[in-house]
Amino acid sequence: MARRIGVDLGGTKIEGVVLDDADGRVLRRERVPTESARGYDHIVETVAALVERLRATHPDAGSIGIGTPGAISSRTGLMKNSNTTCLNGRDLPADLARRLGQPLRVENDANCFALAEARHGAGQGGRLVFGVIMGTGVGGGLVIDGRLWSGPQHIAGEWGHHVIDPQGPHCYCGQRGCVESLISGPALERRYRELGGDGADTPAIVVRARAGEDRAGRVVEQLVAHFGRALANVIDILDPDVVVLGGGLSMIDELYAGGRDAVARYVFNDELRTPIRRHQLGDSAGVIGAALLE
Ligand SMILES: [Zn+2]
Repeated sequence: MARRIGVDLGGTKIEGVVLDDADGRVLRRERVPTESARGYDHIVETVAALVERLRATHPDAGSIGIGTPGAISSRTGLMKNSNTTCLNGRDLPADLARRLGQPLRVENDANCFALAEARHGAGQGGRLVFGVIMGTGVGGGLVIDGRLWSGPQHIAGEWGHHVIDPQGPHCYCGQRGCVESLISGPALERRYRELGGDGADTPAIVVRARAGEDRAGRVVEQLVAHFGRALANVIDILDPDVVVLGGGLSMIDELYAGGRDAVARYVFNDELRTPIRRHQLGDSAGVIGAALLE
C-alpha cells in the first residue's frame, strides 16, 4: 500500500495530507496559516514542520509532493509567477529537500488538480485527461495514463494564454484576447462593468443573467461562446478522453449545457463525444494531486 504526503501551499493557508494512493483516501489532514508576510524562510520552515508531523504519524509514507500557484522555471529550476511573491526566484524544491532530507517535487496547482481528478476524481478511467482550472486565472494540466505530462518546457496544458481574439482585452502576458483575459472571473466582472453594470462578482452576474437581466445575460453568453472556441482548440489537438473543469467558474451550469454546445460547434468534427465533467474532489484536489506527484 503506497502512502504519500501532499502539501498544498497557498497564499493564506498550507494544507498537508497523508494519502492512501490505492483508493485516494485521505488518512490525515492538517492546515496551518501561511503567514507569507513573515517571508520565505518562514514558509520553508512551516512546510517542513508540517511534513515532519505528518511523517511522524505515518512513517511508511514515501514520497512528498508540493502543489502551489505559480511555476517552476524549466531553465533555472526557480519559482516564478507565484502570487506568494516571496517564493519567486527561490529554489523551493531544493530548499525543502535539504531541510527534509529527501527529494521532493513541486508542481503548479493546475497540474495537481488535473492529476488528482484523473486518478481519483471525475477523470477516472480516461487515458488522456485534460484538467482545467477556471477561476481568478485560467490554467490546465495534462494527465496521460495516470501520470502528469508537463513537457520539456513545463507548459503542457497551459491553454489560458492562447489568443482567441487578437482585438480582445490586454493581458498581463503581453498579448491581447487570451483565454484568461476573456473567461476568468475578473474578465467577466470587467466585461460586466464595461457594459454599464456595477461591481457585481461572477456568481452574482450569473444569478442576474438567469433572472433575465440583459447585461448579465450578454456576459454569460460571451463566456459560453469563448469557452467553446477555446476548449474546441484544445480538443482538436489532444482529443482527450475526458475534460474536467475546476476552479470557481466550474460551478456555472451553463458551461455544461450551452458551453458544451459551443464546443461542439467549433470542434473539427461533426459530433462531440468528449465528456466535459465537473470536478469531484472539490477543494481537496490540489493537495491530493500534490501527494500523487512522483
Ligand atoms: Zn495572456
